[in-house]
Amino acid sequence: MIVTLSETAAILASAQRVVITAHGNPDGDAIGSSLGLMHILRSLGKDARVLLDDDIPAIFAVLPGYDIIGRPSAEEEPLEADLVVVLDTSTDRTGCTLQAVKAPHLLNIDHHQTNDASAEYTYVAPARAATAEIIYDLTRELPVKMTKDMAMCIYTGLATDTGFFRFSNTTSHTMRAAAEMLDLGVEPNVISESLEQKPYKTVRDIGEAISMTKMFADGHAAGIFLDEATTARMQSTEAFIGMIRVIQGVDIAVVLKVKEKDICRVSMRSKGIDVSRIALQFGGGGHTRAAGCTLLMPFEDAKRTICEAIAKAIREHQDAQTKRENP
Ligand code: AMP
Ligand code: MN
Ligand code: MN
Repeated sequence: MIVTLSETAAILASAQRVVITAHGNPDGDAIGSSLGLMHILRSLGKDARVLLDDDIPAIFAVLPGYDIIGRPSAEEEPLEADLVVVLDTSTDRTGCTLQAVKAPHLLNIDHHQTNDASAEYTYVAPARAATAEIIYDLTRELPVKMTKDMAMCIYTGLATDTGFFRFSNTTSHTMRAAAEMLDLGVEPNVISESLEQKPYKTVRDIGEAISMTKMFADGHAAGIFLDEATTARMQSTEAFIGMIRVIQGVDIAVVLKVKEKDICRVSMRSKGIDVSRIALQFGGGGHTRAAGCTLLMPFEDAKRTICEAIAKAIREHQDAQTKRENP
């Protein structure tokens, strides 16, 4: 059932024991919005905790509450709660968290246009740049006194999902929310310096990955394709896509890596063509300009499949443009 922002606030207000979770391979928005909501609910006297079924990158240690993020256990007795809140994804990408918690109610808060609204209660706001921006909206619906801890977490979600306020999803509302977080004591450089930290090896890996870039679709697309052995020796591939997104003439950038044999993880970025539609064809999702999916096939097949789908989307976009110019 789709709910409004004030109904979302009422659902949160009526629960005492709340478990908060988000998508696997958690990014700054998943972690920031989860910890931000945890601090907010705790300040309201609730028993709130964050469970994430994945490793949490150490760069997020700057966030208050990082140390108490828990990991769900499928083996132990389920944790009892009144409410589970899934943030920044549909309910299908939370690993084993939902099995590890026993709660009568499930609330999903997200900003992805591809959200499947399968939860008991769903609040989706695709116009918001980050789930953290929705958490900020909720603070205006709840009797909460904002603190610097809450602000650091919300700011991190806002900053990371907007590429530090540069992407097209950045609105004046995003900027105002961020400005309020600065008023509460957030030091932007402390967050950005912490998040930018990379091990020496990762910087070397970025160099190697850039040198592997393949152009396709007549120069309208660029991709980095990492086979199983290459993926295995690279610690973090997160930064790769941003490096090729900037190539002149490129409409869609893609990074494909082999997570395990016959499991290929795809990330896409665009300058306007809707890549969430490409991701949806393969059971993934995301936003117009940033989306992802997983292809269950061998590396070479996955590479060919995604390149064909991207080239087709570019052709269709060009055809539509030609039609608009010559009606
Ligand atoms: P990524 O390339 O992993 O940074 O993902 C880009 C955007 O697409 C993010 O907003 C993700 O949450 C979303 N996304 C990535 N993979 C999936 C998926 N399998 N299903 C739904 N959304 C996804
Ligand atoms: Mn996310
Ligand atoms: Mn997000």
